[in-house]
Amino acid sequence: MGTRKKVHAFVRVKPTDDFAHEMIKYGDDNKSIDIHIKKDLQKGFVNNKQTDWSFKLDGVLHNASQDLVYETVAKDVVAQALDGYNGTIMCYGQTGAGKTYTMTGTTENYKHRGILPRALQQGETNRIIASHTMNKNSSRSHCIFTIYVEAHSRTLSDEKYITSKINLVDLAGSERLKKSGSEGRVLKEATYINKSLSFLEQAIIALGDQKRDHIPFRQCKLTHALKDSLGGNCNMVLLTNIYGEASQLEETLSSLRFASRMKLVTTEPAINEKYDAERMVKNLEKELALLKQELAIHDSLANRTLVNYDPMDEIQIAEINSQVRRYLEGTLDEIDIINLRQIQEVFNQFRVVLSQQEQEVELTLRRKYTLIDKNDFAAISAVQKAGLMDVDGHLVGEPDGQGFGLGVTPFSAKPGKKAKSKKMFKEQLSTSARKEGASSPVGGKDLDFSTSKTQLTPSSKEGDVKDMLMRDRETSSTEPLPLDSPKEELRPPRPSTPPPKPVAFEDFKNERGSEINRIFKENKSILNERRKRASETTQRINAIKREMDMTKEALNFQKSLREKQGEYENKGLMIIDEEEFLLILKLKDLKKQYRTEYQDLRDLKAEIQYCQHLVDQCRHRLLMEFDIWYNESFFIPEDIQVSLKPGSSIRPGMVPISRIVSLGEDDQDKFSQLQQTELPEGPDSISFYNAKVKTEQKHNYLKTMMGFQQAHRK
Ligand code: ADP
Ligand code: MG
Repeated sequence: MGTRKKVHAFVRVKPTDDFAHEMIKYGDDNKSIDIHIKKDLQKGFVNNKQTDWSFKLDGVLHNASQDLVYETVAKDVVAQALDGYNGTIMCYGQTGAGKTYTMTGTTENYKHRGILPRALQQGETNRIIASHTMNKNSSRSHCIFTIYVEAHSRTLSDEKYITSKINLVDLAGSERLKKSGSEGRVLKEATYINKSLSFLEQAIIALGDQKRDHIPFRQCKLTHALKDSLGGNCNMVLLTNIYGEASQLEETLSSLRFASRMKLVTTEPAINEKYDAERMVKNLEKELALLKQELAIHDSLANRTLVNYDPMDEIQIAEINSQVRRYLEGTLDEIDIINLRQIQEVFNQFRVVLSQQEQEVELTLRRKYTLIDKNDFAAISAVQKAGLMDVDGHLVGEPDGQGFGLGVTPFSAKPGKKAKSKKMFKEQLSTSARKEGASSPVGGKDLDFSTSKTQLTPSSKEGDVKDMLMRDRETSSTEPLPLDSPKEELRPPRPSTPPPKPVAFEDFKNERGSEINRIFKENKSILNERRKRASETTQRINAIKREMDMTKEALNFQKSLREKQGEYENKGLMIIDEEEFLLILKLKDLKKQYRTEYQDLRDLKAEIQYCQHLVDQCRHRLLMEFDIWYNESFFIPEDIQVSLKPGSSIRPGMVPISRIVSLGEDDQDKFSQLQQTELPEGPDSISFYNAKVKTEQKHNYLKTMMGFQQAHRK
């Protein structure tokens, strides 16, 4: 497949007593014919001065028997057809040159039978299913015999089978219509008597030309019928029948020209393979049954009994869903791996649970809060205009600053409000800390970035978790740390180029970030200690479990002994010996230990989860504070910093650098936000300042900064 093959061209010369020896010569290898025309004969019969022609062919059959012709021309093509390759054999030549004799042969003598009966015979011995169509033959019409081959493998299990066809074409006579001019003038034009042959010739010229991509197959019935046999993907043989007599030399020449044109055509034989679907299903079913048996043997050898590999039903899927939920809650330690199908289903259920929880979170948020799309500026400004919300996204009049998470980095919360909410958090923390006992991690008490709930227990409701997340976002974005303001003045002179972040981070951890860093590290060590304890507990549990198994086994052994020796009963009570009794006691004791340790482990896991949460928060806070500090120290222009000096409720670090710089860009919205941030408390003043802001919106950067300072002085 994939390799191009040339069309094979043979010439068969009709036997005659009058063979033109001087004009027709065969090459030594029997693969070429040379034609020579004597000078005196040339006049009046060919229109050019050429007197010699040489035609290269794949073989010249002179005085060849039908047998030899079949062997040379057809045998391979038929054999390949039985392997799935289409084949075409064409006989071309003037009427009477022996096309029909070659293709069909004579009926009188068995020896003289032609290619067609022999091809059928060859197929027959290979037990192909063959059929052919016969056309009435005349020298004016073409005759195409098609043998359809469908070959199935002898081994019934093979689902592959091949189909192919062999076209045996006995063309109409190729003789030309002579249009000779006046006496002495040479032949001008010669066309085929049968028009379709000229279409065939055009198609063949196109096929022989590598640059042509359109082949005119549709011009006549003949080329149309031979479309997939000419060129294409089949083995192709042209047999040109010629006379060997001098009087027929003109037609002989044109036939040989046709043959040499045909030799230029290449084909790309390809196998026609098909699949027997029914057989294939049967084979796959067999294979499947075999593999299932194989799997069962493997399982029993590996002591894995009763593993079911069938597709899961709804109940099994629901069970996996529940396992996944319990695993996520922390009430299930691990999900045992059973087989591939089950693993896939576990992953699948993770996705199901995740998407359900996402929906639930959103639903809970929507119940509690009015959510506005961060990108929906129209809605945001409408709410702001209505005075329902301040720039921080807080709903006006909300008691503890709970409100919209709009993703707008706020400059600051109002001082009064801030103190209040901070105090509230601390209160909540200390109460819950008391409730949870002494070994609570540090963060909760020392830092206000902790959550309102100190402990996340596995049984806590989803609602609680979300509530916490919500508050968490608030506190971490609006509550500054109490550690920073006194150090503000002591900042060393600013270097010309900022140090690389990793270096600066080390400085930060030792200086301004030292307190958070300390808490972060402390929490981390608590977390590690809890993890270690959990791992030890797990090991103990496993040891107990092993001991329990051993005891159970011993007990079963005792039981079986007792059963063999005969049982004793006394007033309906079983009599057992001391050894068995001790084993029962031991097992009971182990079970108790197991339960206690297991409970411990559960508690530890809950604690770990909580600690992890705190550690994550600390890390987040540390990085966030570092970024603020880094920006303050190295990027925010000094003059802006002057205007944001202590006493102000603005923390410059809270202002992203992009925001400060964009003040100069006549960014009206940001300007008005700056203005509003500086408002004294009292919702009534908002509309007043809104009006004021509008008049000032066109001010340039300097004026903006002046307005900024004025507002600051108020
Ligand atoms: P075509 O089909 O090309 O018009 P035919 O096959 O009908 O020519 O041949 C014309 C006559 O010549 C027939 O009687 C045929 O038996 C005879 N003939 C052609 N080729 C041979 C050959 N190679 N040996 C013997 N007889 C032949
Ligand atoms: Mg014929």
